[in-house]
Amino acid sequence: MNRPPRTLITGGAGFIGSHLCERFLAEGHEVICMDNFITGSPDNIAHLIGHERFHFIHHDVTNFIYVEGPLDYVLHFASPASPVDYLKYPIQTLKVGALGTHKALGLAKAKGARFLLASTSEVYGDPLVHPQPEDYWGNVNPVGLRGVYDEAKRFAEAMTMAYHRYHGVEVRIVRIFNTYGPRMRLDDGRALPTFMTQALKGEPLTVYGDGSQTRSFQYIDDLVEGIYRLLMSDYVGPVNIGNPEEISILEFAREIIELTGSKSEIIFKPLPADDPKVRQPDISLARRVLGWEPKVSRREGLRRTLEYFKQRLGLTGS
Ligand code: NAD
Ligand code: UDP
Repeated sequence: MNRPPRTLITGGAGFIGSHLCERFLAEGHEVICMDNFITGSPDNIAHLIGHERFHFIHHDVTNFIYVEGPLDYVLHFASPASPVDYLKYPIQTLKVGALGTHKALGLAKAKGARFLLASTSEVYGDPLVHPQPEDYWGNVNPVGLRGVYDEAKRFAEAMTMAYHRYHGVEVRIVRIFNTYGPRMRLDDGRALPTFMTQALKGEPLTVYGDGSQTRSFQYIDDLVEGIYRLLMSDYVGPVNIGNPEEISILEFAREIIELTGSKSEIIFKPLPADDPKVRQPDISLARRVLGWEPKVSRREGLRRTLEYFKQRLGLTGS
C-alpha cells in the first residue's frame, strides 16, 4: 500500500475516542474522526486540528455515513457512556448502539474495512459470575433504566457478528471495563470525575449505597494499547480489556481523598437502580491472544489524572 492506512473513528471527540485518534496518528494512519458532540467536545481534539493526517466530520452516525475514498479500519466508539449521560439521552443511546452500529458496519462492508466495536462490561449486567470471562452471557434487566445502554451494546455485538457471518466483514469486539484518565468530563457523573472534583473543591464525596459495590478501574493508556493490539490481531469475538485490580467504591472514595490531600468527608446517597454489585474482568483471553495486560497501577494512573483535573479546575501551581 503506497498510502497510509485510513481509519474512521466514530465518537472520536469523546474521552476514549480522542486518545485513539492520537494513537492512530502516531502509528502513521490517516484518521477521520466523526462525532456529533452529544457528550464529547471539540476541546478534546483541538490539538489535532491542522495535523495533515487528521480530518474531522461533524455527523450523527445514526444517519447514513458517507466517507470519501478508501477505508482500512472503522472503529465504532460513538455512544454516551456514563450512566448520567445515557439516562439523559436514552433514545439516542439506543439509536447509536443499534442504528449507528448498523450504519458503521454497512460502511465497513462497502469499503472492505476491518470493523472494531466498542462494547462494554455492561453486557454482563449485574453479574452472577465473578470475575467475568467472555463466555459469561450476563444478567441484564432489559426494561431497567440502564437497559438502554446494556441492550444497545448487546444488540451491537449481535449485529457485528451477523455482519461477520453473513457478509464476511472482518470484525473485532472489545468489552471495555471502567476506564479513566485525562479528558473525562468533570461533570459526566461517573465515580472518578465526581469524586475527584468533589475532593478538589472540598465538597463531600457522594458514595451511592453503602459503597460496598466493586469496580475495577483501568488507565486509558492501557486500554488504548489493548484496542490497538486487538484490532491488529486475527481474533474474532469479544475480548475483555480491563484492569483486574478490584476495589470497593467506598475504598475508592477514601483513596481519592488521600491522593488529593482533601479535607472532604464522605456522604452516602441512594444506590441507583440496577447498579452492578461487583465487576472485575477475567483477562486470561487478552493475555493469551494479545499478549496484553495492564501496566499502569491505580496509584500512578490516578496521579496522572489528578494533574488533568487540577488544570481543568484552575488549581495548578497552587
Ligand atoms: P464519551 O461520551 O466521552 O465519548 C462518546 C463520543 O461519542 C462523544 O464524543 C459523543 O459526542 C459521541 N457520540 C455519541 N452519539 C453519537 C452519534 N449518534 N453520532 C456521532 N457521535 C456520537 O464516552 P467514552 O467514555 O469515551 O466512551 C467511548 C465508547 O467506549 C462508548 O462506545 C462506550 O460505550 C465505550 N465504553 C466506555 C467505557 C468507559 O469506562 N469510559 C467503558 C465501556 C465502554
Ligand atoms: N458512584 C458513587 N458516587 C458517585 C458516582 C458513582 O458512589 O457520585 C458509584 C456508582 O453507583 C457505581 C460506581 O460508583 O456503583 C461506578 O459508577 P460509574 O458511574 O463510574 O460507572 P458504572 O456504574 O457504569 O460502572
